[in-house]
Amino acid sequence: LAQWLQLQDEMRCFFMIADWHALTNNYRDTSSIPENIRQQTLDWLAVGLDPSKATIFVQSAVKEHAELSLLLGMFTPVGLMERCTGWKEANERGDDVLRTYGFLGYPCLQTADILMYQAHVVPVGKDQQEHVEKAQDIAQKVNFLYGTETNPVFRVPEWQLGTAPMLPGNDGRKMSKSYDNCIYITEDAATVEQKVSIMVTDPARVRRHDPGNPEKCSVWEYHKVFTDKKHHDWIWKGCTTAGIGCRDCKKLLAERSTRSSSPCASDARRWRRQTSTGGVCWRPATRTRACARGNDDPCARSSTSTRSNHHDRHRGGDADRRRPQLPVQPDGGRLL
Ligand code: SF4
Repeated sequence: LAQWLQLQDEMRCFFMIADWHALTNNYRDTSSIPENIRQQTLDWLAVGLDPSKATIFVQSAVKEHAELSLLLGMFTPVGLMERCTGWKEANERGDDVLRTYGFLGYPCLQTADILMYQAHVVPVGKDQQEHVEKAQDIAQKVNFLYGTETNPVFRVPEWQLGTAPMLPGNDGRKMSKSYDNCIYITEDAATVEQKVSIMVTDPARVRRHDPGNPEKCSVWEYHKVFTDKKHHDWIWKGCTTAGIGCRDCKKLLAERSTRSSSPCASDARRWRRQTSTGGVCWRPATRTRACARGNDDPCARSSTSTRSNHHDRHRGGDADRRRPQLPVQPDGGRLL
C-alpha cells in the first residue's frame, strides 16, 4: 500500500477490488464478500488512497474483465496455469475443493485485469510476481499472433516490487483471510496485541533462557517493517543471547504496529461515518468500463489505475501511450 500511495501521485492508477477472484477459492460461501468489499474500500481510504487521484473499482462491475479473460483463455496453455504456485500447492494438499476450472484459470483472469488497461506497471508483493510473468507471456503470444512490432495488441506489463518483505500470517503460514491469520490495518490495539501474542516464534526458544534466531521467527519479519534500527539491534542481541524473552519482543511489536496503524483506524472510522463506500468503489464502474471498452484512453491523466494495481507510467499524450489498434475482422468488427 505504501507504494500505491506514491504511485497515485505519479501516474494514472486503477485499484481493483477483486471480488471475482475471491470466488475462485471461496465459491461455497459467498456471504462475506459484500462486507469484505466494503472493508477493503475503507482500509484503502484509511491509508490514503484518494478517489480523486486514482480509480477504485469493483472487478465484477466491469464485465469486460470476464469477456477478455474468456478470449485470453483461447491463447493460454493449460501447462502455464498448472505451473502456478497456488495450483501446485492445492494439488499437493489434495484440496479437491480447489480443483476447479475457475481456480486453475485465475491467473488468466488476472492477466485480463492487467492487459485491459494497457498497464505499464503492476505493483505487487513477491508472491504475485509470477502472475505478472504469466501476463507477460500471454500478452507476447497475442502480440505475436495479431500484432506487429510497431503496433502490438497489448502493452507487455512490468512488475514493481515494494520494499516491504512479504509478511506471514500470525500462525506462520501465508497470510490469508481464509486461514484467519491476518492482522488488519484498522484493528484496535487490544486485538493487535492479542494476535501478536500468539504469533509463531523460533521453535528453538522453548524456554526463556534458550537463545533463538530471529531469521526463523515471523515476529522478526514484522519488526523489519514496523520497528526502527535501534530496536533491531536490541532484538537481535537479546534473542540470540536469550537476554530478552519473546514476550518482551512481541510487546514491542504490538506497540509499534499499533502506533503505525492507529491513524488508519481512526481514519477508517471517519470514512465509515461520512461515506457510502458504494459511492467510492461501485460508482466509478461506468468510467472504468469506458476505459475497458477502449472508449476512454486509460493513459489520460484526467481520469484515473489496481489488487491488481496497474499503473500507467506516463502522464502526457505521446504516441507510445496511445491505445494500440486491435485486430480487425473482415466485417470491420474487432476480434478482441
Ligand atoms: S525474541 Fe523475538 S525474534 Fe527472537 S524468537 Fe522471540 S519473538 Fe522471535
